[in-house]
Amino acid sequence: MLTINQYVKVKSLDEAYELNQKKTNRIIGGMLWLKMSKLRVNTAIDLSGLGLDTIEETDEEFKIGSMTTLRTIETHESFNEYTKGAAKEAVRHIVGVQFRNIATVGGSIYGRYGFSDVLTFLLGLDSYVELYKGGIIPLKDFAAMKADRDIIVRIIVKKKPVQCVYLSERITKTDFPVIAVCVSKIDDKVMASVGARPARAKIVVDETGILSEEINDETALKFGEYVAENLDFNSNMRGSAQYRKHIAKVLVKRAVKALGGE
Ligand SMILES: Cc1cc2nc3c(=O)[nH]c(=O)nc-3n(C[C@H](O)[C@H](O)[C@H](O)COP(=O)(O)OP(=O)(O)OC[C@H]3O[C@@H](n4cnc5c(N)ncnc54)[C@H](O)[C@@H]3O)c2cc1C
Repeated sequence: MLTINQYVKVKSLDEAYELNQKKTNRIIGGMLWLKMSKLRVNTAIDLSGLGLDTIEETDEEFKIGSMTTLRTIETHESFNEYTKGAAKEAVRHIVGVQFRNIATVGGSIYGRYGFSDVLTFLLGLDSYVELYKGGIIPLKDFAAMKADRDIIVRIIVKKKPVQCVYLSERITKTDFPVIAVCVSKIDDKVMASVGARPARAKIVVDETGILSEEINDETALKFGEYVAENLDFNSNMRGSAQYRKHIAKVLVKRAVKALGGE
């Protein structure tokens, strides 16, 4: 059981950062993942008073505050229009509406969970993490970094012309994904972000131009094979490495065809 000695609702990010330097203290987002642990937290640091629970839109970008819930991602009209509904598709399978009303983007990205639909999806866009001390860094770099004591302030998604399709495979509704795929076309380059391998999501870019001429059955399958060959897959209770590799290939193929308008 998680135990918390004291709770502080901070008044500034500076206060949160200072408190978070102590190893026994913890930032809390929705606390849904934390509450599954047996951690003994000295001070729980609550960011909910800092106005970080909204998606701000400018001409250039979407700024998603770290305390924004997954439900806000799911229902945000403009963000879903921009991502062609992929935002909603990426989160709508996560447990249930009440859960998504609490789980935060900050907690989801900080955790860098292998199974994360949120990380898989955001890696498929031109996304950045704004850290309180570390500044703004590409999400793919953040995903590869080890956890430290910095604070995620926002996730920034640059508004480049994008086509984007999100697909996942689950053994049963609301379970963790067996494989998750976000295929996108940004600046005329197609890439696939593949998560739940079961390791955390990684991106494979169509460097060899498989899809540069035409998207059809043959090229979509070829790209699916290319992605599956360029990633490592492992086994766990939800599926074998071989099964994951096969499903990743199939989902990438389907997503590419959907990108092409099918
Ligand atoms: C039963 C269950 C099923 C789930 N199923 C899925 C699923 O199918 N797909 C999926 O994608 N996800 C799934 N998740 C994960 C979920 O969507 C969230 O990603 C997870 O709960 C973390 O979000 P949170 O807001 O609860 O974070 P918390 O539990 O509050 O925090 C998680 C970690 O992030 C740190 N943290 C939080 N906010 C910040 C910040 N701003 N800066 C720095 N560190 C921070 C905390 O200190 C903690 O270490 C599941 C979780 C549970 C418990």
